Amino acid sequence: MNAPVKIASAAAEAADVLKRLGVPESLWTGGNRPVRSPVSGEVMAHVHDTPVAEVDAAIQRAHAAFLKWRNVPAPRRGELVRLFGEELRAAKADLAKVVTLEAGKIVSEALGEVQEMIDICDYAVGLSRQLFGLTLATERPDHRMMETWHPLGVVGIISAFNFPVAVWSWNSALALVCGDPCVWKPSEKTPLTALATQALFERALAKFGDAPEGLSAVIIGGRDVGEALVDHPKVPLVSATGSTAMGRAVGPRLAQRFARALLELGGNNAAIIAPTADLDLALRGVAFAAMGTAGQRCTTLRRLFVHESKYDGFVAALKAAYASVPVGDPREAGTLVGPLIDAASFEAMQKALADARAAGGKVHGGERVDAGEDAFYVRPALVEMDAQTDVVKRETFAPILYVMKYRDLEEAIALQNDVPQGLSSSIFTNDMREAELFISARGSDCGIANVNIGPSGAEIGGAFGGEKETGGGREAGSDSWKAYMRRATNTLNYGKTLPLAQGVSFEIKPAP
Ligand code: NAD
Repeated sequence: MNAPVKIASAAAEAADVLKRLGVPESLWTGGNRPVRSPVSGEVMAHVHDTPVAEVDAAIQRAHAAFLKWRNVPAPRRGELVRLFGEELRAAKADLAKVVTLEAGKIVSEALGEVQEMIDICDYAVGLSRQLFGLTLATERPDHRMMETWHPLGVVGIISAFNFPVAVWSWNSALALVCGDPCVWKPSEKTPLTALATQALFERALAKFGDAPEGLSAVIIGGRDVGEALVDHPKVPLVSATGSTAMGRAVGPRLAQRFARALLELGGNNAAIIAPTADLDLALRGVAFAAMGTAGQRCTTLRRLFVHESKYDGFVAALKAAYASVPVGDPREAGTLVGPLIDAASFEAMQKALADARAAGGKVHGGERVDAGEDAFYVRPALVEMDAQTDVVKRETFAPILYVMKYRDLEEAIALQNDVPQGLSSSIFTNDMREAELFISARGSDCGIANVNIGPSGAEIGGAFGGEKETGGGREAGSDSWKAYMRRATNTLNYGKTLPLAQGVSFEIKPAP
């Protein structure tokens, strides 16, 4: 173990902040499910799992709300989201504190996560006046053809522990302006952030005045509660964020009942350091993407391909950054790497490092930092590999960066794409041909392909998501809103004849 770090208690702080945020004490005390802070390892609260029968009741209430909410003009629906954004602004520091205590994020990243919620609210308010369809050319005279977009129904949201509030807001802000109520099952590891968010949403509802009851609900529990949401016939869309294993279970269940699935699953993100790269910029980009959030972002940089001409110098600088990065209490100014979420995460990391060693990898770092028995802090690990072996191809949700050497860019791109996941990727280069190749059809096969910035830390304005085992879903910006609405194609005849498409003739004889 590394030198010990001292961690102050998290439990008392959690109680204070939850009270300030107005979360009723009955929701986080006396329940069956203990909530542990990864910061100190202490139990901070006991929440109540939602009985499966109550999941049905919450969905029925949301469906009843849908029948009313769909009639509210979209800009008025946007007003609710605007009010919610105001509540988030006012409570930003407190909500971020819950994110830190429950997910272990350093203060700046926790504040960033709440800022992302505010940003998507602003975006959705604008969107509420821009839910437009097209007018299309029709082949028939005196006809008009157009698309209209309508609210879809109740949206089920299943979220992962590592973005305990932002992922819900990417979905819910859009869904609400699109006319859809939301039922949210947060990760069982982070229910307090969900309860705090719901309390803030209820403040916005009170100011809004006449929203139907049941527009937003939180259901708490593990897989069984998630499945009750996934299988419910009154939920036409489930947006599920988490591991590929979860997506493999959820996707077919939704397909079985022809419901829409928006899947945001695991990533195994890569960066290429080309010969012309600005190495100082690349070092900073790689350090944040690989070590930030203690390696627990879906977009965390996990594989690095460095051109052989730059390998020794760049990897030496990277090793120095790894050796000096401050690991410790995420509440302390100066800490850059906080804790892993739990013991299972620590064990998965150690298993991957053992597998990498067995495959010939040279491991630097990765040791546990002593912060008490129940808190799991580690030094981020840099692993030099001769080849992209099986362990490199799987996502281990911890701060491990596998580094490999390459000679030819096309070969590096092929290696980058030769994994089951397809979320995020980057190239660091000042060669315009290399940059263009990387983002071309022959380049990265990921949903996100960046040049001269790392693969993690996306803005809400773009569509977010990835290909292959990442699930194919897109949420947040661009035209992602279309997933939350149903499209109708309308053809209107304002003439006095009935020409059929494709020149088909079907003349019935008038009755004698
Ligand atoms: P997880 O798969 O263990 O859990 C995610 C959520 O799914 C939880 O709420 C869990 O209760 C629920 N769940 C699990 N099995 C289920 C089932 N069969 N039916 C219904 N619900 C079920 O993931 P995690 O450990 O919380 O998060 C880490 C994973 O999430 C990583 O793989 C990471 O890459 C991924 N992730 C992806 C994105 C993205 O946008 N692509 C974003 C964040 C996290």
